[in-house]
Amino acid sequence: MAKSVIIVGAGLGGLATALRLAKKGYKVEIIEKNGNAGGRVNRLKKDGFTFDTGPSFFSMSYEFKEFAKDCNIQLPFKYFELDPLYTVNFRRSPKTYYLYKDISRLAEQFRDTEPDFEDKMRRYLRKSGRLFHDTVDVVIKSNYDSVLHYLLTLMKVNPVHLPVMFRNFWQQVSRYFKSEDAVQILSLVAFFLGRTPFDTSSVYTLLSYTEFMHDGYFNVEGGMYKIIEGIVDELKKENVKITYNTEIKDFSATDGRVESVVDQHNREWRADIIVINADAAVFRGQVFRRPEFSAERLDRKSWTMGPLTMYLGIRSKLHMVNHHNYYLGDNFREYADKVFRSPDSLQKPYYYVNVLSGQNPDCAPEGAESLFFVCPVPDLRFKSDWSDRDQVVDSIIDDFSVRIGKDIRPLIVSRTVYTPVDWQDQFNLHRGSGLGLAHDMLQIGAFRPKNYDELFKNVFYVGASTIPGTGLPMVIISSKLAFRRIEEYSAKI
Ligand SMILES: Cc1cc2nc3c(=O)[nH]c(=O)nc-3n(C[C@H](O)[C@H](O)[C@H](O)COP(=O)(O)OP(=O)(O)OC[C@H]3O[C@@H](n4cnc5c(N)ncnc54)[C@H](O)[C@@H]3O)c2cc1C
Repeated sequence: MAKSVIIVGAGLGGLATALRLAKKGYKVEIIEKNGNAGGRVNRLKKDGFTFDTGPSFFSMSYEFKEFAKDCNIQLPFKYFELDPLYTVNFRRSPKTYYLYKDISRLAEQFRDTEPDFEDKMRRYLRKSGRLFHDTVDVVIKSNYDSVLHYLLTLMKVNPVHLPVMFRNFWQQVSRYFKSEDAVQILSLVAFFLGRTPFDTSSVYTLLSYTEFMHDGYFNVEGGMYKIIEGIVDELKKENVKITYNTEIKDFSATDGRVESVVDQHNREWRADIIVINADAAVFRGQVFRRPEFSAERLDRKSWTMGPLTMYLGIRSKLHMVNHHNYYLGDNFREYADKVFRSPDSLQKPYYYVNVLSGQNPDCAPEGAESLFFVCPVPDLRFKSDWSDRDQVVDSIIDDFSVRIGKDIRPLIVSRTVYTPVDWQDQFNLHRGSGLGLAHDMLQIGAFRPKNYDELFKNVFYVGASTIPGTGLPMVIISSKLAFRRIEEYSAKI
């Protein structure tokens, strides 16, 4: 008889695992706290505008292709490549850098600031590329049964990379480039991991290779939510039911197995196998009530930024603004030191702007634009009071207006803001940390919350909060790793 599976959470991790399992003949059902699927990959439709509320691009597109192949389906959405990858503007200058994938074209923009940029960039990318190829398949795509297993796997990595382990991202980039502009721009990718270049290991400089050389960045036709709609359609074909507005709060267990998970209405949901797509640390603490994952213990770990996000509909086109844009200040080091701990950093915020309607005109009425802003802010441990949120948002809008040379304030017809409080409450994210646990050396691999449960042999975890880590391609890899674990367990029962 088909084994039954309950998946808690309809984020990308839960949906991808559901499809893998359903295709293998498991009887799958998904339970989701919110009123729609997608988790952090979500959508807001308001005042005639459509906004992607979380991710606005992805890398490693081949992971999605491999997922479709594993599930024996056509990829259920269309994506296109970004080039330039993004733009960067510093407050100190009107100049905007365009991060082209063509290194010669990119280098032209650094002619005055960084002599020999092209040579330096090629050397930097060669090193990042070697790091990528020597680590990703070996380390990222494996399940670990113990710390020893993990350490033995790490030992397979070419020892030539050992010194890199002891540097941070900033130090590694600074070995190749000298100008402030070049080092700051090439270090920005550390912020994509939700931390700063000063507290992110230089191992992650491999991301520069994924950006410029290996694959690049991609957008989805019609907006990122098409990824979710496409997978949900595939799940319908497999008769996978998703029950919304249902939050798992409790459980019952016997003989080292979870018998049922229990929702807010005390309804019991029973299955042979339980997969948790909710945050793997938070769920262990809040639902399984494990002391080592209590809120106080989690507070002592290192977490990624709390995002302040805003979604603006404006009745004008902004042709001078590219699709993905970073607006930085002039105090990079001081800002980076403060951004995750001190609300002072909000006096001169750094932020990211995505013009979704630039490439997806259907996402805004004619002649209008839908804009998505992300500003990294301290999580709720360090700033719990957001009564000043409108002032912070207004200061970003004012700064943006100056930077682009057009006052957008009178043009705003739709405005929505999510603070870390909203991110916490919507998706049960610890203290509103948008990307979850940071990727410090002691919080990745076998040190990250495991994708199998320590006590209950029929419980598994999937998503950004377990291995390998955050971001859409990593979540797709995570679904494959969880699927493997479930298949191994299933073969034994
Ligand atoms: C502002 C922002 C921008 C980002 N930008 C990018 C980007 O550009 N590119 C990129 O690759 N990544 C980006 N990310 C990261 C990416 O969104 C995440 O890594 C990914 O979506 C996580 O997917 P997941 O399935 O692991 O978790 P989630 O999406 O969080 O899904 C977990 C689901 O579980 C549900 N849930 C939680 N608790 C319970 C419970 N007790 N009972 C029932 N359901 C529950 C939640 O409601 C949620 O739907 C961004 C994230 C944020 C916040």
